[in-house]
Amino acid sequence: MGPGPINCYPRVLRAMSTPLVGQYDPVMTGYMNETMALYRHVFETRNPATVLIDGTSRAGIEAILVSAIEPGDKVLVPIFGRFGYLLKEIAQRCGADVHCIDVPWGEVFSLQQIEQALRQVNPKLVAMVQGDTSTTMLQPLEGIGELCHQYGALLYVDATASVGGNPLKVDPWQIDAVSVGLQKCLGGPSGSAPITLSPQFVEQLMPRHHIEAGIRESGDHEGNGRRIASNYFDLPMILDYWGEKRLNHHTESATMLYSARECALTLLDEGIDHAIARHKLHGRAMAAGLDGLNLERFGDQQHKMNNIVAVYIPQGIDGEVFRSVLLNDFHIEIGTSFGPLHGKVWRIGTMGYNARQDTVFHTLMAMEAVLRRMGHPLTPTQAINNAYDIYASA
Ligand SMILES: *Cc1c(COP(=O)(O)O)cnc(C)c1O
Repeated sequence: MGPGPINCYPRVLRAMSTPLVGQYDPVMTGYMNETMALYRHVFETRNPATVLIDGTSRAGIEAILVSAIEPGDKVLVPIFGRFGYLLKEIAQRCGADVHCIDVPWGEVFSLQQIEQALRQVNPKLVAMVQGDTSTTMLQPLEGIGELCHQYGALLYVDATASVGGNPLKVDPWQIDAVSVGLQKCLGGPSGSAPITLSPQFVEQLMPRHHIEAGIRESGDHEGNGRRIASNYFDLPMILDYWGEKRLNHHTESATMLYSARECALTLLDEGIDHAIARHKLHGRAMAAGLDGLNLERFGDQQHKMNNIVAVYIPQGIDGEVFRSVLLNDFHIEIGTSFGPLHGKVWRIGTMGYNARQDTVFHTLMAMEAVLRRMGHPLTPTQAINNAYDIYASA
């Protein structure tokens, strides 16, 4: 019940044990096309360039940033938690002239703050996180894409932690590039990073389009822009592999393709709105239950993600001892925290397969037992009653 990775949906685990097929087997390429179509629904977009990057979520982030950024490009990174710092770091590695704005951990940005920075910095790209698990906050994105376009910038969003549990409407919100991972609300393992790119974003990459010498044929067209610094994460090459040309690039992992495909099918079979409502319901029940344990919530609750909640570790309780007792005696994992919150809060997730009433109840009961044993004052059964009240009123 941590902030991810989470327990996989059993059907995703089953899909991953499907026998492997060759890279150009029609079953494989058929699944690739199907997976592209499924993720267009997941992302609520019509972008043809909707593919998987092999690797964990940060493979998706790196592919987008290393392909989009040329040394010296101005990039604006609004930072509201750990993963904003990651975007800053990767953009700097790509040689960008990175400008950051930030808010205290536990808060999000207003449109005015973003607009002011756009006016001051005049960036080519804005890179930001939708849901930062480090603080549990969900940055509202409506209006930001439009603002970026007004100021001539493209918008990239890391929605790894939020997709599937909170609304993410790529086309209506005019987001140019999005990357995610499977191991949060999508209920899969880490190791595949679905991404989607707007036609404008792809067009901007095309001057850097290049074909490896060993597979180039006469008549092939290439751009004359600066070569993208990574071969593995070269998006135009990856699009050539996923596109009609099927130009050879890396060997797409069949196992992760099955996994990513099954995660999308699981979400779409349930219905995106239903899945979001489910994350919201179990997230509310968990938060109300934690109130009943006499624990104080962290951060601006109006902007909390549906799928995760943070609470202050009470005075006099060793947060790491508590977590290890919960893990060893009850087989329940909850999250620690990073940076300015290190040692201050626990983070408890209700995401993907773990967003269920039984997991919420089991977690609250186990936490109650261990907290009482460690001397934390609380009213017995209040946590479960609070959660029951949320379920009864749903
Ligand atoms: C969890 C998370 C990641 C994870 O990245 P990995 O490379 O899969 O470990 C990335 N971004 C955000 C916003 C996250 O919450």
